[in-house]
Amino acid sequence: MPTALHFRLYPSKKQEARLSRTLTVCRHLWNDALAHRRQRWQVEGKSTSYNYQQAVLTGERHVNKELLGVYSQVAQDVLHRLDLAFKAFFKHQSRYPRFKKPTQSGSFTYPQAYNRSVKPNVPKRRLYLSKIGNVTAIFHRPIPKDSRLKTCTVVRTPDGRWYASLVFEEIVPLQNLGSAISSQQPKTPIGVDLGLLSLIATSNGQTVEHPRFLRKAEERLKHLQRNLSHRNCGSKNRLKARRRVASQHSKVRRQRLDFNHKISTNLIRKHDFIAFEDLRIKNMVKNHRLAMSIHDAGWGQLVRLTEYKALKAGSRVVRVPAAYSTQECYNCEAFNKIDLGVREFLCIGCGRHLNRDHNAANVVLKRGLAIACLTAINVGQDLSEFKPVETRPMLLQTTGEASQVEETGTTRPHGLKAHDLELWEDVTGWPGPSASPRPGR
Ligand SMILES: [Zn+2]
Repeated sequence: MPTALHFRLYPSKKQEARLSRTLTVCRHLWNDALAHRRQRWQVEGKSTSYNYQQAVLTGERHVNKELLGVYSQVAQDVLHRLDLAFKAFFKHQSRYPRFKKPTQSGSFTYPQAYNRSVKPNVPKRRLYLSKIGNVTAIFHRPIPKDSRLKTCTVVRTPDGRWYASLVFEEIVPLQNLGSAISSQQPKTPIGVDLGLLSLIATSNGQTVEHPRFLRKAEERLKHLQRNLSHRNCGSKNRLKARRRVASQHSKVRRQRLDFNHKISTNLIRKHDFIAFEDLRIKNMVKNHRLAMSIHDAGWGQLVRLTEYKALKAGSRVVRVPAAYSTQECYNCEAFNKIDLGVREFLCIGCGRHLNRDHNAANVVLKRGLAIACLTAINVGQDLSEFKPVETRPMLLQTTGEASQVEETGTTRPHGLKAHDLELWEDVTGWPGPSASPRPGR
């Protein structure tokens, strides 16, 4: 499994000019290549392949001086990216590729960094980049042993910082590890419920508060944004104001990443089997009242981080359908029609006193074990009657696409009133407390 490490770069003024120049040339190349494809299709009715454009680029390099200033494979990689964009478009995975505007941010890639076009020098704290030079870099963690450098992507973030993203590949692949683990019984399984009031609630009764980084930075962002809108177009002060907005945003992004790294590391250290709800976040953010809180939560990032760490630690992470996880009793599987704001309730099936988040986390764990076809030896504290083998396949059939928000935002989030609740139900398609009982039951 490849490992990506991001190192901060501190280019000199000359180097920064060369880096920026490379980004500009790459942008022009992208736009020219895109126009070339479009024209060939519209005028001549022909489609254009990657190899064809590659041949054109080779000829172009003899006459275009700007292209000569860029490492050949970096330019080739632009065409490769364009080709991928078209392939995604033809598979209906993304929209038609667009022309690139000049912006503060961008990236370019050395696709074969092992061919000495990129050379990290850790003791001297510098990274050699072909056609750029020896750039000062902070190697804040060691380069992995028994692995070789695969690619290097140089990134400029919107706030003007430079990073190098180095991807390393193991010389001996770790593929067999996963299959050996999957057949074992987990010793410390855990289910995780993702929510908006508490960011996560686990099946052993722990909760982590939603950090609301974006919410907290909102005041300052508002101020900076207003400042930006009052600056004249194209002025230096506008550029400065834009950088300040961007750097505030990237601060929030770094805070969230750091927080999610800590939670995921903690989960992986303590548990060898972790079940998450499989949330369709794209559908959920269509509800504009919740979109900010949902983005601020960064659930997707948390799950992704946990998944890659699990691969290395030899643990398992599964995603389970989230439908109705808050309303089903983990103990007797009775369906409790409870209001969105209700935190604790008595189960109508077995009379147990259930905490909403805790119950949901246990349901997630139960479904996770059922998906993985495993039985747990020791699940949670409050789970004496827990029998995961009994979990019926019915649970896996519910797609619950429409009810995602309701299930995840296990509570009514901040400041949501009764009127909003109706709107919420409209958006999510959840039948609501007064509607007919759960379909398929
Ligand atoms: Zn019950």
